[in-house]
Amino acid sequence: MSRRVGLLGGTFDPVHNGHLRSALEVREWLALDELRLVPSARPPHRAIPGANAEQRLDMVRLAVQGDTGLQVDDRELLRERPSYTVETLESIRTELGSDAVVFFILGWDAFCALPTWHRWGELLDLCSLVVLQRPDYDLEVPEVLKDLLAARSVTDPGQACASFGEIMPLVQTPLAISATHIRSLLAERRSPRFLLPDAVLDYIETKGLYRP
Ligand code: ATP
Repeated sequence: MSRRVGLLGGTFDPVHNGHLRSALEVREWLALDELRLVPSARPPHRAIPGANAEQRLDMVRLAVQGDTGLQVDDRELLRERPSYTVETLESIRTELGSDAVVFFILGWDAFCALPTWHRWGELLDLCSLVVLQRPDYDLEVPEVLKDLLAARSVTDPGQACASFGEIMPLVQTPLAISATHIRSLLAERRSPRFLLPDAVLDYIETKGLYRP
């Protein structure tokens, strides 16, 4: 049987329970062999006060430690320059081969911005997309994506067997948690506990991250 791998890309600044719960539910829903969190390098012009790449990677590693069924893929952070998702998927295809069933997971907000992504038209030649609802975002899907959704959507996970090319909207447990909200709580010296794993919060406190 072909290997089934899910990838959740993000800046994870910091990683939180919205990411982790969604990742776990996708893993079970699609009966994946592996689900990898893929922290991205932040382009220099988008730098914001937050954690650096090494700290974001440390936090993702802490979040998945133990028997969580989730892994970390650090290939984007090992590159010299920030990489585009399409290039990451090409690299993962080279690693896994053309038979592997690859799913790239993204939230509704990220999906609506897809037409701004580098070589976005090629993404579905490399993977299928799993689109997560985000209760904290109310965005209208761009026209060009409406057609794509109509043509490529699959709602039954049992049918999600193609190596690439499908779009699966997933109704997972809705968690209105964002890294932005966690950073602003910390900046106001309020506690974000229970929005993210304790090990990640302990790391943030030890390093003094996101404080004013
Ligand atoms: P920020 O608030 O800094 O923009 P974020 O919380 O959106 O961060 P990212 O690291 O940018 O986190 O997200 C990585 C991916 O996870 C994106 O595709 C995003 O849409 C998705 N995502 C983030 N939070 C949630 C959530 N609570 N529920 C579902 N998907 C989420």
